[in-house]
Amino acid sequence: MEILDILIIGGGPIGLNCALEAQKNNLTYMIIEKGTIVNSLYHYPLYMRFFSTAEKLEIGGIPFISPAPKPGRQEALEYYQGIARQKEINIRLYEKVLKVSKTGDIFDIETSKAVYKAKNVIISTGFYDIPNLMDVPGENLLKVKHYYTEPYPYAQQKIVVVGSSNSAVDAALETYRKGADVTMIVRHSEISKNVKYWVKPDIENRIAEGSIKAYFNSEIVEITENTVIFKDEKGQISEIENDFVLALTGYLPDFDFLRNSGIELQGDCLNPLYHSETMETNVPNLYLAGVVCGGKDTHLWFIENSRIHAEMIVRNIVGREY
Ligand SMILES: Cc1cc2nc3c(=O)[nH]c(=O)nc-3n(C[C@H](O)[C@H](O)[C@H](O)COP(=O)(O)OP(=O)(O)OC[C@H]3O[C@@H](n4cnc5c(N)ncnc54)[C@H](O)[C@@H]3O)c2cc1C
Repeated sequence: MEILDILIIGGGPIGLNCALEAQKNNLTYMIIEKGTIVNSLYHYPLYMRFFSTAEKLEIGGIPFISPAPKPGRQEALEYYQGIARQKEINIRLYEKVLKVSKTGDIFDIETSKAVYKAKNVIISTGFYDIPNLMDVPGENLLKVKHYYTEPYPYAQQKIVVVGSSNSAVDAALETYRKGADVTMIVRHSEISKNVKYWVKPDIENRIAEGSIKAYFNSEIVEITENTVIFKDEKGQISEIENDFVLALTGYLPDFDFLRNSGIELQGDCLNPLYHSETMETNVPNLYLAGVVCGGKDTHLWFIENSRIHAEMIVRNIVGREY
């Protein structure tokens, strides 16, 4: 069986960038991706706009041309999937990595379809697959969604949006504009400071004029088939009529997968242990790249500031071994 120089787990923007960097350095590599190419982006809300301008999302020095100041999901899909096609990136799709183990200096990578061997492994699995649950009764009802796609199913429905990040704010505004009756339930005292600067005044003004209702310092207590029960900032319990809950409370990296691969997780945020200059973890030749690096603090890393990881990792591998 061929022993690859690098096996990359996850074909998101950063996994693809690692592949481009490996290609540039004539290393043998393969990406294993459990869905389609840039699978997380494929599952983003249909009409989302990135907060980054196009050039900040570029990888491998390949121009990302967008007519709009901030590109949308479809343009990003065209860009990243186009790179995989044009650069003939070696990627296996719809194959999930189940286990990474090491015998001597060689890694065994067990997937849903095969076992591969590699000298180095890069984990670039992102954080978009595991919703950060509220842990309240009724959360498993079908009307509770942890992913938002588009506003049209919610026309003329009573919606509760949980959270106040970009995803929650976009969903609240879009569904309100398609005729939904929107109530936001927000744990914090205000709309998140990270909300896109051109969207923040829109949501704050809709709340101020009463078009969108918002309860701050408030938490859901229970969800039933027809209602949502929540505790407000005065500690009072209220029950409101409800058809759908959009629980956009963030997502988490697969901590079990990281732990089972031998990576130490530290502190309350379960930050994975890695060297900040090489991205190598406490397991020699096992690297982390992209937004998976942040542990529970998923706002720390994004494409803009983590695309550099590919170069750091490959430079370290090349410098060490070849
Ligand atoms: C709505 C939204 C808007 C955003 N806007 C911006 C922005 O404007 N600018 C910016 O810089 N960042 C933005 N981000 C953050 C950043 O774009 C994403 O988090 C980005 O996808 C990170 O890239 P990644 O390659 O690290 O992870 P991901 O894109 O999440 O890729 C990880 C890949 O690994 C795969 N995978 C996971 N587990 C396995 C496994 N066991 N086996 C095989 N494959 C696996 C997944 O299917 C996925 O394709 C945004 C995020 C969201 C959610």
